[in-house]
Amino acid sequence: MAQQYGKVYLVGSGPGDPELMTLKARRLLDTADVIIFDQLPGEKILASMPEAAEKIDAGKHAGDHTLTQSEINDAIVEKAKEGKIVVRLKGGDPYMFGRGGEEAEELVKAGIEFEIVPGITSALAATAYAGIPVTHRDHASMVTFITGHEDPTKEETALDWKTLAAFGGTIVIFMGVKMLERNMGELMRYGKNPKTPVAMVERGTRPDQRVTIGTVETIAKISKDAGVKAPALTVIGDVVKLHEILGSQI
Ligand code: SAH
Repeated sequence: MAQQYGKVYLVGSGPGDPELMTLKARRLLDTADVIIFDQLPGEKILASMPEAAEKIDAGKHAGDHTLTQSEINDAIVEKAKEGKIVVRLKGGDPYMFGRGGEEAEELVKAGIEFEIVPGITSALAATAYAGIPVTHRDHASMVTFITGHEDPTKEETALDWKTLAAFGGTIVIFMGVKMLERNMGELMRYGKNPKTPVAMVERGTRPDQRVTIGTVETIAKISKDAGVKAPALTVIGDVVKLHEILGSQI
């Protein structure tokens, strides 16, 4: 019966700096019966999970396999059905490329009560700490968020690179490290100015944050040489020039 079920909180932990977590996220994390997490929240936040809670690593499972999304959904539903208060902890904001929407739909289907706790998305925080305002009166009055990680074997790309190449605002790419060269190639193919500034912001707001600068034409090689790796955001647009003036916060 539904009233015997527990409750699930889909909690955004923010970009990694523990002080950028909301008070609500902190309170729920401290009082949860079960925490289902992956590595994206970052070391500091993961280390702050209370000892008393049951912790399920959705990023690692028997034999080091990653839980599939449906296994994660099952784990969340199962624990809630046991009457537990479950925190599904997610880096940044749960609904920003976090599959939080899918998890919420599953909970509705299963008749389990849930709440969403928005977090500061890395798209705003990692860029800010890197000295890059995503909008600026002189440089960009629009911003768009896209995923750069698409299956390279897929014939059709879901992304409309033609529209993106013509887009006059800032483009922030999530999960874009692996496909960086292809994605920059697509932009240039559709006429994006190759000299447009690009920043890669790795591990934004964490102690080891790193910013690597290039252009649409050069960033793939520069990133490869610098060993840029996930989690990192790709920021494309004139606002990237402000990094030189505003500097990195870390
Ligand atoms: N829900 C998250 C995004 C999940 S998708 C959010 O709102 O931030 C995972 C991608 O997010 C990573 O591949 C990377 O592109 C980006 N990301 C998350 N945290 C990051 C951080 N601290 N620094 C840079 N990029 C980050």
